[in-house]
Amino acid sequence: MRYVSTRGQAPALTFEEAMLTGLAHDGGLYVPAEVPVMGAAEISALAGLSYEEAAFRVMRPFIGESLADETLQRLVARAYRGFGHAARAPLVQLGANHFLLELFHGPTLAFKDFAMQLIGQLFQETLARRGQRVTIVGATSGDTGSAAIEAFRGLPNVDVFILFPEGRISEVQRRQMTTPTEDNVHALALAGDFDDCQARLKDMFNDHAFRDEVALAGVNSINWARVLAQVVYYFTAAVALGAPQRAVNFTVPTGNFGDIYAGSIARRMGLPIGRLVIATNLNDILHRALESGVYETRGVTPSISPSMDIQVSSNFERALFDAYGRDGAAVGQLMDELRDTGRFTISQGALETLREIFASGRASEEETRAEIARSFRETGRILCPHSAVGVKVARAHLGATPMVTLATAHPAKFPDAAEAACGTRPALPPRMADLFARPERLTRVANDLGALQALIRERRRR
Ligand SMILES: *Cc1c(COP(=O)(O)O)cnc(C)c1O
Repeated sequence: MRYVSTRGQAPALTFEEAMLTGLAHDGGLYVPAEVPVMGAAEISALAGLSYEEAAFRVMRPFIGESLADETLQRLVARAYRGFGHAARAPLVQLGANHFLLELFHGPTLAFKDFAMQLIGQLFQETLARRGQRVTIVGATSGDTGSAAIEAFRGLPNVDVFILFPEGRISEVQRRQMTTPTEDNVHALALAGDFDDCQARLKDMFNDHAFRDEVALAGVNSINWARVLAQVVYYFTAAVALGAPQRAVNFTVPTGNFGDIYAGSIARRMGLPIGRLVIATNLNDILHRALESGVYETRGVTPSISPSMDIQVSSNFERALFDAYGRDGAAVGQLMDELRDTGRFTISQGALETLREIFASGRASEEETRAEIARSFRETGRILCPHSAVGVKVARAHLGATPMVTLATAHPAKFPDAAEAACGTRPALPPRMADLFARPERLTRVANDLGALQALIRERRRR
């Protein structure tokens, strides 16, 4: 299996190389040269398997020669053993033909653990075999960073630096990043918003000398291995509801478009997904783009669902690449236009292709709060604000096809928003109850590339 860049100018890589590289050298994102298809019998055979066995079968064809079967099985088993639920991604029913896929039973209580825990195992295995070390730098709107720190803490071949927008993440999110004591993890509070963090990260990757000097690696949601890990739960959920004989729709609380893009890969692999509904909060660039065909950045407005507070959705580039018939030059031009003017217009043909796969909706702050209250009233379940955006948007798309809304975080990660909306404060699971008693450790940094690079040079181990 080979991976190609969405901008068509970087060399094709193996799974292992694409994982270690993250962003391609031409600024693009890696995608599989072709998507393997699972037949109906193979999909049916996933029914009743453990999550780990289903994960192995779904991911195997994408990994090719990079790992032996037994190795992959061992790493998958290790990745998910720290989860607080035996099903890993349990499905519960919310109402008529509406289901919630709980993706928050991992160590940091958000769906990002599914990808990050696996990627931690994959990195350590690969680096140890190659006798290499890397410096992982990530930008987070809250959940990626804690998931990365949790996944890489203490690993001998990796140093981790996570940039987060100071003051714009929840206290639980911050504490999950600042309380691990291992000396290979560094939480960096940047004076700026999430897009500043993401921009500085891109700058570091585009500084090829620095990138090589510190062996920079990325585990942000643009990393292909992360997308791949997220494909699995679309299969387990759809099969539980009757796929491949029955089609299923999904609604996905969306920010950087990694999670929902994984759903589109599952669809291309042959899983009968009718529609993938993009649910955005008031930072609704994707919803506007799908409605109008114009992808246009505006400033980020902080919301009660901060992990979706983005201005630019990095992984959307992958969907554009497919919608433009895999024309890397065309995608490169759109991205240049975006950088220079803050907008681009999607061609009519590409827009129609996107609309065959994706629908979209937006929930205001008021609607999100109302949804938390309504779900609590009707089901006794407290939704995190991101999941509430999803459920609210999904309601407009309910029908004869079962709808699965992804619950992307545990409500206790955002207790203030939940309590303000429904009057009840969600509690942390007992295994994390002492989080507020642990001492914190963080470094404040300016929104400045040079300062960041100096800090990383100084702190990383050799
Ligand atoms: C990261 C995150 C999202 C957005 O996921 P993307 O893959 O970036 O679209 C939604 N909800 C929560 C809780 C998250 O942590």
